Amino acid sequence: MTLTPVEGEPDPDGADCVACGRCCHHGPSTVQLLEDDEARLGEPRLSRLTVLMERPPFFRFMQNDGGRCAGLDRTVPDAYPCAIYAHRPEGCRIVEPGSPCCMEARRLGHLGESVQFRRADRDQS
Ligand code: SF4
Ligand code: SF4
Repeated sequence: MTLTPVEGEPDPDGADCVACGRCCHHGPSTVQLLEDDEARLGEPRLSRLTVLMERPPFFRFMQNDGGRCAGLDRTVPDAYPCAIYAHRPEGCRIVEPGSPCCMEARRLGHLGESVQFRRADRDQS
């Protein structure tokens, strides 16, 4: 699913993220889970929403569901809330509204492979 780009800076506290949802639209093997993420997510969410690589290094990723993350709550019309927000992986937490990564995703309409996950504070150092 392709989203149209949106203009303008979002609310830094995340109020616009549910209406935007660009971060949650991406290809397979985009949002990787590390050990802490797996522990936080827990079963049965791990089985239902993630996929483990069949070969070494056996990385685990959020499942891709037709161009979007399987963690998206698709029951809300015209909005993109994360169904596992409190348990979401660290890779989702570091994309801050208004950060370079966020602005690029808003410009493109999705998080393309060329977009690097970066913290705004790291970019300034
Ligand atoms: S692109 Fe920015 S505003 Fe949109 S969901 Fe991601 S962090 Fe939020
Ligand atoms: S886990 Fe939630 S915040 Fe992260 S990409 Fe999936 S739907 Fe978006």
